[in-house]
Amino acid sequence: MSSIAEYSQIENKLRSGDRISRKEAEHLWLNASDDQLQVLANIVRDRFHEPNAATYLLMRIVNYTNVCVAKCDYCSFYRLPKAPDGYVRSKEWIFERIDELVAMGGDLFAFNGGFNPELKIDYYVDLFGSIRQRYQERIEFYAMTVVELLYIARVSRITVPETIKQLKEAGVRWVTGGGAEILADSFRLRHSPQKYTVAEYLDTQKLILEGGLKTTATMVIGFDETLDERLDHLESVRQFQDENLQHGGGLFSFLPWTYKPYNNELGGTEIGSHEYLRHLALCRIFFDNIKIIRTSVLTQNASALTGLRYGANDFDIPWEDEVTQKAGAVIEQNVDTVLGYAHNEGFTTTYRHVARAKAALTT
Ligand code: SF4
Repeated sequence: MSSIAEYSQIENKLRSGDRISRKEAEHLWLNASDDQLQVLANIVRDRFHEPNAATYLLMRIVNYTNVCVAKCDYCSFYRLPKAPDGYVRSKEWIFERIDELVAMGGDLFAFNGGFNPELKIDYYVDLFGSIRQRYQERIEFYAMTVVELLYIARVSRITVPETIKQLKEAGVRWVTGGGAEILADSFRLRHSPQKYTVAEYLDTQKLILEGGLKTTATMVIGFDETLDERLDHLESVRQFQDENLQHGGGLFSFLPWTYKPYNNELGGTEIGSHEYLRHLALCRIFFDNIKIIRTSVLTQNASALTGLRYGANDFDIPWEDEVTQKAGAVIEQNVDTVLGYAHNEGFTTTYRHVARAKAALTT
């Protein structure tokens, strides 16, 4: 347990609306009890949200290509170009997946592929333009991750602002902060040297916001990252948000999730939900400038909903994600079951519509 004096000092700081320092975050991680972390996380959560109320989304992750040249050692999903089981899905295949979720009342799709050297900007403009034309305002979609956007710009030999402009004209409104994993160059050098430096990642996030797209922040824990590397990540994101709030409100949300160690080069042991929940609380306490902190049903299942008591206020119910499923994630597709977990934790749940035309929820 954290010493009473140190804990009280941090608690007072938070109750006065101040932020904690990196050193205090480190102290809390090493010393605070679970109860203390929950209390502090809820002090910050209460600045932005009703207590005991959560929002959720019904979402499908659409993996349109598994071909990737980045070769991250923690990835169980990618296939190198020319691999017999590499694929690029057809538009019909993608439309079918969208139609299925729309029929259930879902309205959010997240496209996630790899660094596929065959797919240049024209491919994405055509794909997303067709999706926007077909579904108009009934759905919304995260077109890609930040690192995919940067790769597309490079492989298409155009600038990042030009890439953003073309995507926007095709109907893209959102990307996600995926590809962040741990924002510490030491970590990236060890595991994903092709996946861009921290500076490249953050510069691209800035250009995305300046270009008028919405974006989010993410983090993945449970590889072999050190506490310092985790804190580097939190500091980078908080500082970025301080500097970019004027661009459309900055990063829309922050979602931490956990690494799944199966079927890849890195392997390792999966961290437990206890560590995830403590980390989630620390994120809420640290981020006084990000309103929406999300908990990961995709990687934590029922435990993710306990995360609502550790500072999270939002979650999605994912219908499918080949990337994490290949690495060992088991997805609970029954919406009522997942909502039941949240209700059992004492929370009400309200659907957070993302599309401009509201989907008719069937749940
Ligand atoms: S994590 Fe993404 S960028 Fe890295 S190898 Fe897998 S698909 Fe490629």
